[in-house]
Amino acid sequence: MKVALWGTRGSVPSPGPETIRYGGNTSCVAVTLADHSLLVLDAGTGIRALGLALAPAPLRVDILLTHLHLDHIQGLAFFAPLFWPQAEIVIWGPATPEACLRDRIARYISAPLSPVEVRELPCEVSFRASPAEWEIGSARITAAPVAHRGPTLGYRIDDAGASLAYIPDHEPALGVDLDALEPPWISGFALAAGADLLIHDGQYADREYPDHLGWGHSALSHTLAFARRTGARRTLLFHHDPLHTDEWLDAHAERAAAAWEALGGAPGAVDLAREGARVELAADAAADATKVRSSPPATTLVRS
Ligand SMILES: [Zn+2]
Ligand SMILES: [Zn+2]
Repeated sequence: MKVALWGTRGSVPSPGPETIRYGGNTSCVAVTLADHSLLVLDAGTGIRALGLALAPAPLRVDILLTHLHLDHIQGLAFFAPLFWPQAEIVIWGPATPEACLRDRIARYISAPLSPVEVRELPCEVSFRASPAEWEIGSARITAAPVAHRGPTLGYRIDDAGASLAYIPDHEPALGVDLDALEPPWISGFALAAGADLLIHDGQYADREYPDHLGWGHSALSHTLAFARRTGARRTLLFHHDPLHTDEWLDAHAERAAAAWEALGGAPGAVDLAREGARVELAADAAADATKVRSSPPATTLVRS
């Protein structure tokens, strides 16, 4: 399984000279499975560059939306394959009783917010409520509701012996002590249990959290407690706050590494997500088989 980070920011895009290294695009992660199927986790503004890196050709792309906050769908209307007649796009997301997924997404891809309507898209597009478990290509996908604001899913992808958990917007410690809870009561536990790689909400420093209680995101100590309880092998802090500059995030990475080791965690197992990073998860994803690189991800995703 090859994982490419195309957008690691939360809340709102934040391009500029102070966010070059960690990136300013909002949530988007591409996953290439063992059978070469392409999954995309969320459609934040990072999905625009992903679409440009794909060669126009018959292809199927499954886009798994965690929820419909704008930072997770804003790039969707700018994803090039939506405009290719030969492309099949399947968009998965959380069900709600209020309206079907297509109608909720069409609130964004419609006038006056968008120049195109969903019915005008040239590709073959379908919208499906994510079930609890299903298969895409060679992978088994698991979806489960997680603690955030509004209906929100986390995802787990098990493919060819490797596992990825993706929970970008998550406040599992709201009103509870993660160290004291039994696993079945921890939001998102089963998704992340023993995962080779956990990509998790890491929006706030601990000192920032009291001003954002109930906003749906994690403080550093919450993310580390969640990672420790679930036994994830590696964790990438994701969904960076738009106010956090590269310099701030460098210092935060040091805080995270020190706090993780103080908890008894393995050195190097916790890091910050950077736009452009690639991660390869091998079938026997021991620590030395999980490689993180920061070279541009485009080359592995171009298809002929
Ligand atoms: Zn978000
Ligand atoms: Zn959100």
